[in-house]
Amino acid sequence: MLCVCLPAGPVHDALYSVISCGCVALMVVGVRRHRPRAVAGWWLTTCGVAAWAAADLLWAVYTWVLHVSPFPSPADALYLTSYALIACGFWRFVRARRGQGDPEGFVDSLIFTVGFVLLSWVLLMRPGLESAGESSVARVLAAAYPLGDVLLLAFLVRLLTTSGARTASFRWLVAGNTLLLVADCAYQYVEMTTGYSGGLITLPWLLGYVCFATAALHPSMRALTDGDGRQAGTRFTRRRLAALTLASLVAPGTLLVELALGLRLEGWAVGVSSVVLFALVVQRMSGLLRRLDQQAAKLSELARTDALTGLPNRRTGDAELARMQVRALEEGLPLCVAVLDLDRFKAFNDTYGHQAGDQLLVQASAAWRERLVVDRVGAGAGRSAMLGRWGGEEFLLLVLGRDLASAVAVVDSLRAVTPAGQTFSAGVAQWDGTSSAAELFAAADTALYAAKCGGRDAVVAAPAPVQVQLQAPTR
Ligand code: GH3
Ligand code: MG
Ligand code: MG
Repeated sequence: MLCVCLPAGPVHDALYSVISCGCVALMVVGVRRHRPRAVAGWWLTTCGVAAWAAADLLWAVYTWVLHVSPFPSPADALYLTSYALIACGFWRFVRARRGQGDPEGFVDSLIFTVGFVLLSWVLLMRPGLESAGESSVARVLAAAYPLGDVLLLAFLVRLLTTSGARTASFRWLVAGNTLLLVADCAYQYVEMTTGYSGGLITLPWLLGYVCFATAALHPSMRALTDGDGRQAGTRFTRRRLAALTLASLVAPGTLLVELALGLRLEGWAVGVSSVVLFALVVQRMSGLLRRLDQQAAKLSELARTDALTGLPNRRTGDAELARMQVRALEEGLPLCVAVLDLDRFKAFNDTYGHQAGDQLLVQASAAWRERLVVDRVGAGAGRSAMLGRWGGEEFLLLVLGRDLASAVAVVDSLRAVTPAGQTFSAGVAQWDGTSSAAELFAAADTALYAAKCGGRDAVVAAPAPVQVQLQAPTR
C-alpha cells in the first residue's frame, strides 16, 4: 500500500498496476483452482476486474510514457466495459442464488437504485455534463461513468437481497464491489471539484482489487451460488426495512438539503424519482399484503383442519354447530348430532401397529365423506352436513334439515363403507332448540355409551327431542 503515500506520478501508477494486475492473476488462480459450479459469473467478474486494471495501466501509459491526455482514450472504453462485465458476473450470481424467482428482492433493489440514481444525477452526472463543455465524447463519458456506477450498485444490491449462504467469499465480493463503487464515485467527485492528484483516493480502489482476489481464492467461493431455494422476500428484516426507508427518503431529503443550503433546486429529478419511488414502495407493500393474505388463509386452513384425515377438526365442528343452530332456529329446520367411535380400536392398533391404525382412520374418513357426498346428505333445501374428527378415533357428524330417524339412517349407511371390516358405534341426538351445545353432545355421548354397552357395532338414538338436565334439580 506504499503507493497510497506517494504523490501522483509514474512510480505511484507503476506500483498501483503491479498490485491490481497481481490481484487479477490471483483471481484467475482462484477460479481455476476451485472450479465453482456457476463458473460463468466468476469469469465475467474476473474479466471485469481485469479490464479495470488494464484501463488503469493504459491510463498510466498515456500519461507518463506517451505524455498525452488519457481522456478521452481507449482506456475509457475499457473502464466502461469493466462496469458491464462485473454487472453481468453479479447477475449470474444473483440468478443462481435467487431460487424460484424473487420479485420482492427485485423491487427492493430497484428502490435502492432509484435513490442512488437521483444522488448520482445531482452530485455527479449533472455537474459532469455541465463541465464537459461542447465535446460530445466528453459529454457522453460524463454521463456514462456515473451510469456505470449505477449498474454496479444495482447488481450489488440485487446480490445482497438474494437469500442463500453469506459465505466469506460472498462478503469479500460485496466488499470489493462496494470499495470499487466508493472509489469511483469519490474519484469522479474529486476530479470535478478539486482535481485528482492520487494519494488516499487510490486506497479504496486497491483494497477493492484485494477483496476481489480474496473472494476468488477463498474456498467458500464454490458455495457462493448455492441459493437455499427460499424466496428472500419472505424475510423482511428490520435492517432491510431501515435501509428501504432511507432509500425512499433520498428524494425528499435531497430537496430539503437543497432548500436548506440554498442550492439550485433539482425539481424535475426530485419529482420524477419521488413518483417512481412511491410507485415501487406501493408495489412492495401490495406484495407484502398479498403474502400476508396467503399466509392468513393457509394458517386458518391449518387451524380448521385435522392434520391426519384432512377432515374439519373439533374447533371447526364447534363453530359449525353454532352456525347450524342459528339456521335451525331461523328456518325451523331439525338439527341432529352424531358421535361415531370406532370399536375396539386399541386392539386394532395393538395387532396391526399404530401406522396401520392411522391408515384406517384416513381410509374410514375418506369412505364416509364420499358416502355422504354420493348420498347428497347435505344437499337439498336448507340441508347441510359436516363430518369432522372429534379427536382420537371419534368422529362427529352434524346434519341440518333431517329429523332424528333420517339422521340415524344416514349414520347407519356409513357402516357398510367402513374399511377393513372395522365397526363403529354411534349415538345420535336431535337438538330441541333450547339446550346448549354441551348438553346436545352429552346426549349423543350417552346414546353412544348405550351402543357400546349393547355390544357395539350399533347406532343408538337419544330420546327425541333431547331433554338432558345438566343443571341441579330445583326444589
Ligand atoms: P371401544 O370399542 O370401547 O371404543 O374400544 P377402543 O379400543 O376403541 O377405545 P379406547 O378409548 O380404549 O381406545 C381408543 C384407541 O384409539 C386408543 C388409541 O390407541 C387409539 N387412537 C386414538 N387416536 C389415534 C390415532 O390418531 N391414531 C391411531 N393409530 N390410534 C389412535
Ligand atoms: Mg373412543
Ligand atoms: Mg373406540
